[in-house]
Amino acid sequence: MQRWDWSAARAYLPTALTLATAFLASLRVPALQGPMRAGAPVDWAPCLLFALACLLGIGATRRLWRRRQAVGLLCPCGGLLGAERMGRRGSRTSVCRACGREWRRGS
Ligand SMILES: [Zn+2]
Repeated sequence: MQRWDWSAARAYLPTALTLATAFLASLRVPALQGPMRAGAPVDWAPCLLFALACLLGIGATRRLWRRRQAVGLLCPCGGLLGAERMGRRGSRTSVCRACGREWRRGS
């Protein structure tokens, strides 16, 4: 697998895990049906997890699309830079998600 494939797999990993959790939660809901049922929030858990998985998938797709279009903040290695954080000396730093190198901007 090339690095692009691995980074795409890593980008979609939270989506896949959330979808798997939603699937497992949907299997558990019928077992809780009955007079001792806890309540409505249990019924909504698979739906909420599925909605969260959709949002995570859209976010991952958007990041990968921006990377392909070279619109986002890119490291010279071609990886996407993560969110900016304030450094110790007032500079903004962000970490490359592909190679892990830290970049400083501003002063
Ligand atoms: Zn990099």
